[in-house]
Amino acid sequence: MEMQFEPISAKRDRPFVIAGPCSAETEGQVMATAKELAEQDIDLFRAGIWKPRTRPGSFEGVGKEGLRWLKRVKEETGLKVTTEVAKAEHVYEALKYGVDVLWIGARTTVNPFSVQEVADAISGMDIPVLIKNPINPDLPLWMGAIERIYKAGIRKIGVIHRGFSFHGETKFRNVPRWQLAIELKRNFPDLMMICDNSHICGRRDLLQEVAQEAMDLNYDGIMTEVHPRPDEAWSDAKQQITPATFKDLVDSLVVRQETTDDIEFLTHIDDLRQQIDELDDDLLKLLGQRMKVAERIGEYKKRNNIAILQTSRWNEILDQVMGKATAQGLSKDFVDTLLRAIHQESIDRQEKVMNRQEA
Ligand code: PEP
Ligand code: MN
Repeated sequence: MEMQFEPISAKRDRPFVIAGPCSAETEGQVMATAKELAEQDIDLFRAGIWKPRTRPGSFEGVGKEGLRWLKRVKEETGLKVTTEVAKAEHVYEALKYGVDVLWIGARTTVNPFSVQEVADAISGMDIPVLIKNPINPDLPLWMGAIERIYKAGIRKIGVIHRGFSFHGETKFRNVPRWQLAIELKRNFPDLMMICDNSHICGRRDLLQEVAQEAMDLNYDGIMTEVHPRPDEAWSDAKQQITPATFKDLVDSLVVRQETTDDIEFLTHIDDLRQQIDELDDDLLKLLGQRMKVAERIGEYKKRNNIAILQTSRWNEILDQVMGKATAQGLSKDFVDTLLRAIHQESIDRQEKVMNRQEA
């Protein structure tokens, strides 16, 4: 589907910044946060009014009473405001109170019924919508949500990358899987892309590093949860920061240009890219050779009726290569993934050789 998006706001030469508490808790908390953030020239004030919580019993948002507070924020600070909507009723209430931008949360993007309900509720209106990635790393599902909103006639669409659920231990609350967001951008180059560093990190000490990574990847901006007393927040306390810390974070960001016409830069980068291309060629040639050897091993094993996989040999390769990886300055995670992919391909090749019907 061919789509053409319109910018949510005029492009400035600094990141687009969305900040505010995870949840609107009290009128005082909302107003205090907004007043401090207004002094920092942020683009959009966020606050969750209806909170989709993983388990019942947690704070589920103050509901529409909080919309009055957001209206006050607009009137008293001039800030534009945004909140999460998950169903038609949320949309009607939010629009009634003058919410400027709607966002669709990760738990809603996963459900086409809900996204369609929101799309139908805003059909034909001129309201910007930000669409978070679904909680699972499913690019077509994310694209599907964008398409549903687009088909409702909305052109001011942006996306928020908030990371993906993951089973097991990770540094992040939601693993970023940057490649997935980059792939989305490749499909829709003029789509505004925001990084929600708060929900990716889940802890405040990582927020700066992830925001900078987003800048390095040419994201348009960030969405960060800000609370006057983060530790006392009613939701997502560990990842929220004070307005002052948020200011430091934004000030610390180094913003990169997408490109330049500086000849010296272009020549130098061309040279480096050529080196990369040549090395990629070498890598491919070497991999091809390695697979040929694997096939020869397969043939030899077949003749001697030996199984393809010898666990001890595989362990030996893993140990040897992992040892050398560090010396080459390669991360263990990367080499582990690479080696497993190569090994799987070798096994597939040997499998083919072994089971080839002789003519
Ligand atoms: C939020 O922004 O507070 C939120 C609920 O986020 P997500 O939909 O990314 O979990
Ligand atoms: Mn939150």
